[in-house]
Amino acid sequence: MSAIALVDMGDLAPYAGRERIVEIRPYTETLWVKWDDGHEARFSWIWLRDHCACAACRHPTTRERLFELYDLSLPLAAPRVLLEPEGALQLRWQKDGQEEHVTRYDPAWLRRRAYEPAHAQNGPHEGWDASMAGRLPRFNFDEVQERGDALRNWIQALLQHGVALISGAPARPGELARFAESIAPIYETNFGRIFDVQSKPNPNNAAYTSLGLELHVDLPNHPSPPDIQLLFCIANEAEGGDSTLADGLWIAERLRKEAPQDFQVLTTLPIDFRFQDAEVDIRFKTPLIELSPQGDFIGIRFNNWIRDSLLLPPEEVETFYRAYQRLWKELRDERNHIQLRLQAGDLLAFDNRRVLHGRTAFTATGARHLQGCYLQRSMVESRLRILERNAK
Ligand SMILES: [Zn+2]
Repeated sequence: MSAIALVDMGDLAPYAGRERIVEIRPYTETLWVKWDDGHEARFSWIWLRDHCACAACRHPTTRERLFELYDLSLPLAAPRVLLEPEGALQLRWQKDGQEEHVTRYDPAWLRRRAYEPAHAQNGPHEGWDASMAGRLPRFNFDEVQERGDALRNWIQALLQHGVALISGAPARPGELARFAESIAPIYETNFGRIFDVQSKPNPNNAAYTSLGLELHVDLPNHPSPPDIQLLFCIANEAEGGDSTLADGLWIAERLRKEAPQDFQVLTTLPIDFRFQDAEVDIRFKTPLIELSPQGDFIGIRFNNWIRDSLLLPPEEVETFYRAYQRLWKELRDERNHIQLRLQAGDLLAFDNRRVLHGRTAFTATGARHLQGCYLQRSMVESRLRILERNAK
């Protein structure tokens, strides 16, 4: 049974639900609300005025906020409150004894906005270690292509675990760009829209050699490094050249617990990152591990090739290098990373702000050709929301 919205809240995401408000209690500064699923929450009057979705307060076609709380005098006086017979919550705002405005709320829309501590979180809190090798989220290319559940599940797995593997794509150049663009606009960098990972003469980057690659993230020398990386295997017949992956969230949480001083250094001491070639010289200064104001993990920037000159007071230099070594040891620790061999037609997706990738060295005994590109996380999340909206 699909529920029908009682009030148009100017929201394209599905919000209609079966939850009904069973009890309300107005207090001086807040309204206490209880729904029939047993949940209760409090909303302040100013919040309830600000979120009014009527045509005067929210533009009927752009759905953007029109209401300006600029000249409201706070604290806002309690309005008259009632539950309409069909279940909508009605607030009748007064000013100088006159009724000034009427606001109506859909009970299920409001239920989704009852504040919970999870609303303050930035992302997943669960990292993964080497055991991920046995439970790597795997998908079939043809099923993902159908844009149904499999595509939604793939994006969800990628956002939750920071990694997911699709197998069975046609192993040819061009396929990656076509697939990536069906998800989100390709995020172009100084390495182009699509980059080819294969041994090249005069390489400008370690990836374009046959060297083994230490675990790293791409482009930490940019203020906003690429979020999601898609790495597509067209051929992998060389000896060696297996892929390695580690979860920066897991590593950071280990350090936070087991080496708090090093964690403090890595999360607060800004260091310089830099990439240079004949065309560009791109630099950024920031701590190696980024935390939110609440202290939650946001991202990691370990990439030993493009760490720039260390510009620190002499007495802080060794402190930094010790912390850096400690982080590096965690990455090399076999308990903290996985190794897998990409086959032709495999498309490995990972969160480049969170998950580090690398590869073992290979010898030119056979062709090895990968193509890669980047997507913005916000656009991938948007794709998921649209798929969810259309699935309802
Ligand atoms: Zn209004």
